[in-house]
Amino acid sequence: MIRKLLHRAIKILRRAPGSPAHQPAAIPLSRHGIHREAISSGALRTCETLQRAGYKAYVVGGAVRDLIAGIAPKDYDLATDATPEHVRGLFRRSRIIGRRFQIVHVMQGGETLEVSTFRAAHDADTQKDEHGRVLRDNVWGSLADDAARRDFTVNALYYDPGTEIVLDYHHGVADLKQKTLRIIGEPRTRYREDPVRMLRAIRLSAKLGLSIDLAAREPIRDMAVLMENVPAARVFDEMLKLLFSGHAVECVKRLRDEGLHHGLLPLLDVILEQPMGEKFVILALSDTDERVHQGKTTSPGFLFATLLWHEVLADWSVRKNQGAVPIPALFEAMDMVLSQQSEKLAITRRISSDIKDIWALQPRFEKRTGKSTLRLLEQPRFRAGYDFLLLRAKSGEVTMELADWWLCFQQADIEERLSMLLPEKGPSKKRRRGNRKKGTPEGNVNVTEPVA
Ligand code: ATP
Ligand code: MG
Repeated sequence: MIRKLLHRAIKILRRAPGSPAHQPAAIPLSRHGIHREAISSGALRTCETLQRAGYKAYVVGGAVRDLIAGIAPKDYDLATDATPEHVRGLFRRSRIIGRRFQIVHVMQGGETLEVSTFRAAHDADTQKDEHGRVLRDNVWGSLADDAARRDFTVNALYYDPGTEIVLDYHHGVADLKQKTLRIIGEPRTRYREDPVRMLRAIRLSAKLGLSIDLAAREPIRDMAVLMENVPAARVFDEMLKLLFSGHAVECVKRLRDEGLHHGLLPLLDVILEQPMGEKFVILALSDTDERVHQGKTTSPGFLFATLLWHEVLADWSVRKNQGAVPIPALFEAMDMVLSQQSEKLAITRRISSDIKDIWALQPRFEKRTGKSTLRLLEQPRFRAGYDFLLLRAKSGEVTMELADWWLCFQQADIEERLSMLLPEKGPSKKRRRGNRKKGTPEGNVNVTEPVA
């Protein structure tokens, strides 16, 4: 009797999600709908080469999930039982990347495929930090182990292009059809191992229109603080993915709903609480979403410049109220906001220099007199600066008349441009400089000297 009970318990345990021993469902083409032809030629070729060399090889993760959901995959991830060195040996154009999580990039034509070796389940030997975050993850395991180690059930689907069968260990296909994002295993443990999974939950749920299963959703609010423990460069990468997912507005809304924005963009919560700031940020994000959907280029510098602009304005205004000279005060405000931000988000040096260029151009748009107005058109970042000005006008921060004027000015020929310049009026330069020393206590930009 006891033996029978034990047997039954073991059977149930084996079937439990997260348990590496349970058997996958083999889902046929008629149920998942992914024809071999839908897979990119690079992914097909890579799978074929691996399989011909005697290894297992599957398309896994986002591509399988997206194809079932009827979305064109952004890129292809492959999973195999070949070690990174073996994979590297099979493809001339390939390289091993990553330390914490080693994978191989295989280049096929213009495509880069991410090939990862099946990971083993974590055990007592897994290297973790004091909060439970996994530091290294390069122990190889079985396909079932690998499936249990993936984040969400919809991401643990393995498609074999040879047989057109999807192996599904955690009911991912059913969850996808029921529009649910379910985490594999115990949510709190999974978030502790890698807090970025919370961000991924938000991004993927917004992208696919899924609702996050309550068990996965509930701990996020309490555990958001763990994001502080994630290296700033990784947070930055994930934020880029989120902001350029084509669903940035929805993502930011969901981040706020879950209280996760506090730990990400430290200033975002403050900005979003100011009505003008919120309008500006949402306008910028929806513009970005539209550009992504139209396949146009997007620039991280531009987007981060918009996200942080109202913080710069607030800091700048305080400095000016204290009597600081406007332009140097603007530069100090810019440095201040960027350095505050860098504690959480490792904005690369190149991107922060783009951000600064865009910000520094703004006061110059307010001046429509003299030669420096003409010279502004030659600035390498003029176009981005003008697009930024347009957003400021749309959000009501400056007049639309100013943005319209710059549009006409760009399109005009030199004669017309000269005639468009406004006459210099008011007190002489000398006098104005004197005035500024006393300080001009206004929040809006009203600058009458060129930026150094
Ligand atoms: P997309 O490519 O659309 O951004 P994706 O799910 O493919 O989404 P990737 O970052 O390419 O995202 O990851 C590929 C796969 O690797 C995921 O589908 C998932 O199975 C697994 N994965 C990625 N990040 C994690 C993580 N933090 N924890 C566990 N598994 C992960
Ligand atoms: Mg992917």
